[in-house]
Formats: sequence, structure tokens, C-alpha cells
Amino acid sequence: MSVYLDYAATTPLYPEVVNKMTEVLQHTFGNPSSTHQAGRQAKTLLEQSRKTTAALLGCQARELIFTSGATEANNWILNSAVYRLGIKRIITSKIEHPSVLECVAILAECANVQVDYVSLTNSGHIDLSHLEQLLSDQKETLVSLMYVNNEIGTIADLEAIGNICQNFGALFHSDMVQSIGKWEIDLASLPVDFAVGSAHKFHGPKGVGFVFVKQGRSLGSLTVGGAQEKGYRAGTESIHNIAGMALALQIASARAPENTIHAAEIKNYAVSQLSGQFDGLWINSGIGQTSPYILNIGLNWPESKTAMLAFQLDMKGIAISRGSACQSGSSAPSHVLAQMLTKERQRQPNLRLSFSAFTQKSDIDFLVAALLELAP
Ligand code: PMP
Repeated sequence: MSVYLDYAATTPLYPEVVNKMTEVLQHTFGNPSSTHQAGRQAKTLLEQSRKTTAALLGCQARELIFTSGATEANNWILNSAVYRLGIKRIITSKIEHPSVLECVAILAECANVQVDYVSLTNSGHIDLSHLEQLLSDQKETLVSLMYVNNEIGTIADLEAIGNICQNFGALFHSDMVQSIGKWEIDLASLPVDFAVGSAHKFHGPKGVGFVFVKQGRSLGSLTVGGAQEKGYRAGTESIHNIAGMALALQIASARAPENTIHAAEIKNYAVSQLSGQFDGLWINSGIGQTSPYILNIGLNWPESKTAMLAFQLDMKGIAISRGSACQSGSSAPSHVLAQMLTKERQRQPNLRLSFSAFTQKSDIDFLVAALLELAP
């Protein structure tokens, strides 16, 4: 038996998406910039995909720019804010994805940008009064805070954060990777200036995502040398990926209400089964105001168990992460948990379980049985 509990790292493609992409690869091979029929067909598919995606996110098609994914998108927004929009300060948090944190660190070093980190509450949520305090020192600022944290699942109050940013005249960028396709998002009504999504987190293909640039806002070009994507991102568009992403978002959005209920049931079941079996188990970030799709737990086991645990579970057929997939090759403690846990707890085994509509209670039972075999 094999069990996959790492849906926050990536998700399998919906079969309908595979079929759609295969069809596009076979039949819509034209270059969307070509003016002949094959090119126009590809262009039509590209713009239809943009319209579908935009409608599902509650924004206008012209507010979406397709990218190769969220890492590129986050880097682009941050770099552009500094080099093209005159941003002098970035306010972010220490639990952002590395595609934000590492980019911000380089901007601090190479472009002399001031970086302020907003404090977190005990549960890992953004301390809004600290954000206000930071912003009261007025200067050209971009606030970059993710919607759902990919390691601990905390949900940020985008409405409140965005309103604070507006009150102080700051721009607001949010990495929405772990929420898009999971529940309804209406970009028109949210006070965000820039947002980011990635198809492979909602059963679409890897290597494609998007940036939302609110009407009236702009960015510098990410790449030059062509007029694609309104000149923002020169380079022939990856039509099969973009069409696959649009269909994946359509299916995910239609199923989101039932999937969210299902994920919450699985999460509750996992919490009760795991805490029933393992004394002293703790939940990183708690379960209030967190994504039903992500559960991060700590086991009150000796530190010596930490290094090999994910590997031993893998040997038993269980795919699970210690933290962000981008860093799971590293044995360094998670930068997210470092903000929340004592040094001692950081060294003990912490595991991120992440769910989807495909997760069954039997998957959790299998994990619990495997952990019992590995317990000290
Ligand atoms: N942001 C978050 C919150 C993520 O979880 C990920 C994927 N680990 C990324 C950004 C990067 O996305 P991509 O794989 O599309 O570059």
C-alpha cells in the first residue's frame, strides 16, 4: 500500500486535465503570436483560458499574467516593486515561502531595501497591531504576506491586512498558492494589489502559474524581447500548460465546497487518531483559522528520531514532508517552525500532513500504524 500525504507539495493531475493537455499538444501547436490560422487557434485558446481563470478568481482577464509558476511570480513582483515602482521598504514575515524570503534578502543586500518583519502571534498568525506600527513610519512600502502558510496552514486575514495597507498607502502582495482552488476567492473584493497562484497545487500541471495585477497597478517587464503577456513576460506562452491550468481550476473550484468539508473531516480524524496514540503530541499553529488541508504536528519523541523519520515512513510507503518540499532535502530545522517552537521542540520530529479530496481515513490509519512501529 502506498499513501500520499503531501498534497501541499504537489497534487496529481485530474485525468480530464491530462486529456485536455494531450489534445492541445496534438492539435493546437500553433504559436499564439503567429497571424495564420494555427496561430490564431492557439491565441484563442490562450485568451479563453485567461477568461476562464479570471472568472473563477473574480477578476478581469486583463488582470492576469501567466508565468512559469509561483516562484517566478513572487520574485518578479518583489524585484519589480523595488526596481520599477520605487519601493524603498518591504514588510514581510519570517514564515513566508523561500521564494519571497530569499528574494527579499537579496534586495536588502543589492538594492539597499529596508526589510521589516512583522511579528507573529503565538499561533503563527500576523500581529496586525505590529503591522500598523511598522507602517506608521511612512515610506514607499510593499507588504508581502502569504494567504495560507504552506507548512503550518495558518490563514492570514487578507481583508484586515489589505485595509491596513490601504490606510497607510502601502502596496499589498499575497502569495495565494495554498488557497487557490481550495475555496472561493474573489480577487475583485479583496484589498490586494498583487496575488500569485500555481497550477500544480490544484491538480494542474507543473511549470505554470499566474500573477494577478490589480487594474491600475503595474509592474516592470519580467522578460523582454516579445509582446507576449502585454509585454510583461516575453516568450512564447506554454499553451498546453495554460489550458490545463484553466481546466484544473474549473474542476477544483466546482468541487471546492465538498472538498473543503472532506479535508476538514480528515484533519479532525487525523488529530484525534494521532493524539489518541502519541502522548505529548502537539499541533503546530493549532486548528483555529488554519487550512483544513494542512496539519503540522510535533511528536514528543527523542531528537535522535528526527533525521530519519520521513525516510523511514517513505520506506513504509508513506509520502510525507517535514516542511516545505523546496527545503526537504535539507536537514536544517524549518524556518517556519523556528518562529514558533522552542529549540528543543524544533529538534524533535515535526511532520506536515497535507490532504486532498483523495485522502481517506484509511490513509491516516496507515500512517498511525507506521508511526506506532517506529515509536521509541
Ligand atoms: N509559494 C508557496 C506558498 C508554495 O507552497 C510554493 C510551492 N512549494 C511556492 C510558492 C512555489 O511554487 P512553484 O512550485 O509554482 O514555483
